[in-house]
Amino acid sequence: MSEHSTTTEHDTTEHGTTTGHGTAGTRWTERYRGAVMNTFGDPQRVLVRGEGAYVWDADGNRYLDLLGGIAVNALGHAHPALVAAVADQLGTLGHVSNFFTTPAQVMLAERLLGLVSPGGAPAGSRVFLANSGTEANEAALKLTRRHGGPARPRVLALEGAFHGRTMGALSLTHKAAYREPFEPLPAGVEFLPFGDLAALEAALGDDVAALFLEPVQGEAGVRPLPNGYLAAARRLTREAGALLVLDEVQSGMGRTGSWMAHHALDGGAVVPDVVTLAKGLGGGMPIGAVVALGEQAATLLSPGQHGTTFGGNPVAAAAALAVIDTIEREGLLAHVAETGAALRAALVRVDGVAEVRGSGLLLAVQLDAPVAKGAAAALLEAGFIVNPVREDALRLAPPLVLTAEQADSFVQALPAALAAARQAVSP
Ligand SMILES: *Cc1c(COP(=O)(O)O)cnc(C)c1O
Repeated sequence: MSEHSTTTEHDTTEHGTTTGHGTAGTRWTERYRGAVMNTFGDPQRVLVRGEGAYVWDADGNRYLDLLGGIAVNALGHAHPALVAAVADQLGTLGHVSNFFTTPAQVMLAERLLGLVSPGGAPAGSRVFLANSGTEANEAALKLTRRHGGPARPRVLALEGAFHGRTMGALSLTHKAAYREPFEPLPAGVEFLPFGDLAALEAALGDDVAALFLEPVQGEAGVRPLPNGYLAAARRLTREAGALLVLDEVQSGMGRTGSWMAHHALDGGAVVPDVVTLAKGLGGGMPIGAVVALGEQAATLLSPGQHGTTFGGNPVAAAAALAVIDTIEREGLLAHVAETGAALRAALVRVDGVAEVRGSGLLLAVQLDAPVAKGAAAALLEAGFIVNPVREDALRLAPPLVLTAEQADSFVQALPAALAAARQAVSP
């Protein structure tokens, strides 16, 4: 298969390469097709191991992981601090019900309040811990219903928004192909043109419970909110008595070079009512969080109104604490800003790249032709994992520990991949 550098020290026989019918990867893929529900299409590779920014497939090929499990593997793969935190916690106390708490849960909630509000969280601020991004948004949506009551049945979101796949979060997700097979969805959500303040002003009123925004739309192709939009949205939602919910599931936790992407927008002055987190928060352990700021946060959801069996479990909380500590100890926010800026500057000089969107290590390489799929396939063959987030754009969300040399190896490989993709379209 691929011709890029392979590692031989990895013993592929333990993954079943000995029977002689195709490669280990193709045999696992056949078994996948026979046992796993087809919601994702065929897997591109069967991965067996990771270290830092690299992963290895079942046939021993190495890849530079520039997608990081879709902005999840913040510390890269198998970071010793994360491994130790999870092993220690699981070996000490792995799960309790939410009739009980653990020091890890309490410490994480405290840390998250400080990360979201670096100047100190407003009085009353509270955290709810969940297991994923969609669950965090689901909880946030329930919270906004409690805020609005029957008098505020409307909820606003933006065109291009992605907030998750469970029914409530799906109602906030814009893409028709995701929504329509599952209608009727929870009612009341309206989608506004992206970045259009006049449309927002016209839509807001005393019947709106909340506005949901991604500071950077990830799934829509890494689209940051235009300058001034967030600050104006804050002012307008406050005037209308609606909550401002920021979905930082993809953009948060240092991904853009600040703890939260919104800290770097419009002078960092915007204080939202609710921030949702997941993806990078656990560095690979499933966890999500709702951080609600201000007096009402403490009271909107009362005992019995929301719950989760696994949410806030000590292993996931210990993982998140290890992620936060490591980002701080290794100075990764500054590293992300620096590495991202250098990568961006190098990418815009590549022939066939029209622009680069995003900041830090959440970037979209906008191509001058709709060849993203072919380019991603060629890059995979060459040993680089990227995501063709649009027909004409590649998304990069690598581990925050990506080195300048690793980033540079991708820049070097990109021209050939683009040429191959263009060649395949019009030979
Ligand atoms: C990925 C994502 C979600 C959904 O998170 P899951 O953990 O997949 O449920 C929600 N919002 C945004 C912005 C995301 O990128």
